[in-house]
Amino acid sequence: MAKNSPATEKIVITDAGKEIDRRLDQYQEYEFGGPWGVTGIMLGFPVLMYYLWICLWFYDGQLVYPKSQADVNPFMARMWAHICEDAYPSLYAWKVYGGNIIFQLFLAWVMPGYQQEGLPVPSLNYKTLMYNCNALYSLYATMATAAVLHYTNIFRLTEILDNFGHLMSVAMICGFATSFGVYFWAVATGSQIRMSGNFIYDVFMGAILNPRIGPIDLKIWAEVRIPWVIVFFLSVSGGCKQYETLGYVTPNMAFMILATWLYLNACAKGEECIPQTWDMYHEKWGFMVIFWNFAGVPFSYIYSIVYMARQDPSKYRFSTLAYVFLFATLLTAYYIFDTSNSQKSRFKMQTQGIKTFRNTFPQLPWSIIENPTYIQTAHGNRLLTSGWWAYSRKPNYVADWVMSFCWGAIIGTATPIPYFYSVFFITVLVHRVGRDFERCSIKYGKDWERYCQVVQAKFIPGIY
Ligand code: NDP
Repeated sequence: MAKNSPATEKIVITDAGKEIDRRLDQYQEYEFGGPWGVTGIMLGFPVLMYYLWICLWFYDGQLVYPKSQADVNPFMARMWAHICEDAYPSLYAWKVYGGNIIFQLFLAWVMPGYQQEGLPVPSLNYKTLMYNCNALYSLYATMATAAVLHYTNIFRLTEILDNFGHLMSVAMICGFATSFGVYFWAVATGSQIRMSGNFIYDVFMGAILNPRIGPIDLKIWAEVRIPWVIVFFLSVSGGCKQYETLGYVTPNMAFMILATWLYLNACAKGEECIPQTWDMYHEKWGFMVIFWNFAGVPFSYIYSIVYMARQDPSKYRFSTLAYVFLFATLLTAYYIFDTSNSQKSRFKMQTQGIKTFRNTFPQLPWSIIENPTYIQTAHGNRLLTSGWWAYSRKPNYVADWVMSFCWGAIIGTATPIPYFYSVFFITVLVHRVGRDFERCSIKYGKDWERYCQVVQAKFIPGIY
């Protein structure tokens, strides 16, 4: 039976729960196909990202390939030439990408923030870490700085898109260098956990759970301040480019500016909810997370913008009705994404005894559930069964995926490449759900089965 309030009563992890947490904090088994699988991912993603960019930038978004056996070598030579000429890691790209990293680190260090207590960390003997959530002020400072740089011509925002290839290469190098650097740092300081003992696999999965420099939690910093900031400014860059060349901004580009701002703002205004997410309390800071934050998200989620930067608007113009539909779908999905994540995070905060919540803009209706129902597990934790979580075990994933689909659909059928994000993302989410549910089933045992009976749909009620 799902229980009723008081959810605000602080939970106590039982001895049996602690024993399970201890087991879950030890290395279990290879994921992602083990060392060979992760090596393939580490080499394959950069190649794929270069390929898709080349198709968009030089071949009107068509998926090019060698037409015959004899064409294989010339084709490879052409691809290589594109990378060497238009995506080499130029000094200018280092200054722009590196400048942003340093600026974001500086802001994270100095800006005032909301103090949020994270979840108890089993590997730290259930100590809670404090998070200085200053992403929102940092975002405002970044937007103001970008506007000044643009209008004073010190740095025109159009430069971001113009240097896409170069910036992407710099981002990849930073992603690789940071992943290996952090691995060696973790091992040298003895802060590694859940290690498999295989070097490349541990670099991929990460060694350290809570990397920090002074007051900055690097994992949460990298998740919010790098990818979504770049994604947003790439959209703004696209808008500026259209304004300069066409004299106006297309509704499609305006859609992407809105969509990327919503995501970035959600991460910043709800930063205090991020310590409650799987990436923060379970995933270590390895290549999988680092590369994706530094290079994958910023340079592969917004292919629609790259396409628009190179093509005439007549190729992706829709009817008014289609625009209304797309905007309405985006805003509805955003609402569910925002409120479902908020409902669960705030519920978890309540179970830690936190009773007052941060009030940032916009706080949407139904972000906090009064008197939520839940399942009290023998572990000690509680599983929410109210709000969106009464209908689906992953309402936040469904809504997030719909948004990712909209980011591609805004181009229609002109090119398949902008749909990469939603195809990749659904693969990630389905895989992650498998990993997550397996972990929850070990952690909560019979209580998890009970929860799955109460909330039957994995994603969408009646469908899956
Ligand atoms: P969830 O927010 O679903 O967190 C999963 C964990 O929450 C579980 O392991 C469990 O942990 C706990 N949990 C699950 N169900 C309940 C419940 N009913 N009540 C209480 N606790 C529960 O997933 P993520 O952290 O992966 O995702 C957070 C958001 O980030 C999502 O919206 C996702 O789409 C987004 N995301 C976006 C990415 C992108 O590239 N755009 C990439 C990854 C995520 P426990 O019980 O141990 O606390």
